[in-house]
Amino acid sequence: MSMKYISTRGQSAPMGFQDAVMTGLAADGGLLIPQSIPDVTGRLQEWAELPYRELAFQLTGLFTDIPPDDLKKLISLSYESFRHPEVTPLVRAGDLRILELFHGPTLAFKDVALQWLGNLFEYILSRSGHHLNILAATSGDTGSAAIYGVRGRQHIHIFVMHPAGRTSPTQERQMTAVLDDNVFNIAVSGTFDDCQNIMKSIFRDVEFKTRHALGAVNSVNWARVLAQIVYYFYAGLKVMREEGCPEISFSVPTGNFGDILAGWYAARMGLPVKRLILATNENDILSRFFNTGTYSLGQVVPTLSPSMDIQVASNFERYLYYRIGEDSERLRALMHEFDQTGALSIPLASGEAVEPLFTAGTGTAADTLSVIGRYHREHGYLLDPHTAVGIAVGERLRKRGEPLICLATAHPAKFSKAILDATGSDLAHHELLDRLADAPTRCKSLPASEQAIRDFIVQNAL
Ligand SMILES: *Cc1c(COP(=O)(O)O)cnc(C)c1O
Repeated sequence: MSMKYISTRGQSAPMGFQDAVMTGLAADGGLLIPQSIPDVTGRLQEWAELPYRELAFQLTGLFTDIPPDDLKKLISLSYESFRHPEVTPLVRAGDLRILELFHGPTLAFKDVALQWLGNLFEYILSRSGHHLNILAATSGDTGSAAIYGVRGRQHIHIFVMHPAGRTSPTQERQMTAVLDDNVFNIAVSGTFDDCQNIMKSIFRDVEFKTRHALGAVNSVNWARVLAQIVYYFYAGLKVMREEGCPEISFSVPTGNFGDILAGWYAARMGLPVKRLILATNENDILSRFFNTGTYSLGQVVPTLSPSMDIQVASNFERYLYYRIGEDSERLRALMHEFDQTGALSIPLASGEAVEPLFTAGTGTAADTLSVIGRYHREHGYLLDPHTAVGIAVGERLRKRGEPLICLATAHPAKFSKAILDATGSDLAHHELLDRLADAPTRCKSLPASEQAIRDFIVQNAL
C-alpha cells in the first residue's frame, strides 16, 4: 500500500503522494505529512555504498505512488542538471566535513529539491492534462531555484514574489533574467514575511485557489522535504563508513526550517544522527524556541545571510505537530494562539530540553565574516555567508572531536560582497553568474497588497 498524506491540523482527508504534491498546503491550513514514518534501520548497511541517484530512488520509493521505472527516470532527469557526478559531494576543511549542496543550476541547495519538484509537476500534469499556476514567495534563493525548476514548461506558469531590494543583486538577476513566457517575477515593496503572508492568505481562499489551479513550491511542499532527506542519508552513511563512527552530527544553517526538518525525518527513519545543530542568523526565532520552548515573533532584520532572514518558519508546524504528540487539536489551538498573540509556548519540566536531538545557536554578522576569513586563510576554502553561520554555530556547539557534517547551502559567488568584506579580495566568482551581469531582465513591481497580487495573477494565469 502506498503512503498516504494527512494534514497537521487533522481536518483534511488523507491523500496519495501525487495529490499531496499538487496540493502543497492542506485545505485546512495545515501542512501535509506522511501518515507514518518508515523505519529503514535494517537497510542502512545495504544503502551505505549506493550512488546518490540509487539511494534517492530507494528512499523516495517509500513515500511515493509513482511506478518504479517512472520514478527512476524522474530522479535521473532531476539530477542531470547538477555539475558534480556525486550531486552533493563532501569535502574536508580542517576536521569538518562540508556537504556541498550547491552544484545545481542556480548554485544553491534549493535546486536539490526544486529540480525534482519541477519534473514531478510536469510528470503529473502531462498525465492528467491539467495545468498549474505556481505562486511562490522567496527571500532570495527559492525564487530562482523554482524558476529554473519549471522554466519553459508548457503546462505551468510561475509567479514569484520577492521583497524588493532585499535580495542580493545577484539573486535578483538570477530570477529576473529568465525571460521565458511562463515566468512572472514580482518585486513586492515589503519584507519576505509580507510576501509569505500574502501567499498563505491567497492559498487559504480555496475557491480562488481552485479556480486558478494554484499550487506551491515553497518549502511547505512535502516533495521538497523528501528530496532533502536523501542527502542526509548519503552524507551520513558515507562519513560514518569512512570514519568508522557509529553516529554522526550535522550543522544546518536555518531559515524556514525546511532543510533541517529533512534531517529530523532522516533521524526518525533510523539514520544514526547524534545531534542536529540548528544555526540561525540574528533572525533567531528558531534558536530561541529550541533553547526556551517559546516561539515568539521578532522583527525581521536584514543580515549577511538574506535567505535566512525569516521570522515565521513555514515548516516549523510540521515539527511542532510531532513534538506535541501528533495531537492536531492541540496544534490548532497553538497555531491559533500564535496567530493572535505572535507567540506560543510548550511547557518544559525544569532542565528538560525542547528536543534532545537539537542544539541551537545564533551566528552574528561578525561571526559570519570572521569564519569566512579564517576558512579562506587556514583551509583555502571559500564559504558563503549562510554556510558560515552554520559553521560558526557548529564549531561553538560541537563537542570536542565530534564528527560533524556542515551543510553548505550556496556557492560563495552568489554572495561575493560578503566574501570581499571578509577577505579583503573579490575572490568569489562563477561563470554562470558573471554571464548574468548584462543580461536583459523582466519584473513587475507591486505594493505589498494581497489584492494587487491577486489581480496580477488573474490577468496572467493559465
Ligand atoms: C533557503 C536557504 C537556507 C535556509 O533553508 P531553510 O530550509 O529555509 O531552513 C539556507 N541557506 C541558503 C543559501 C538558502 O537558500
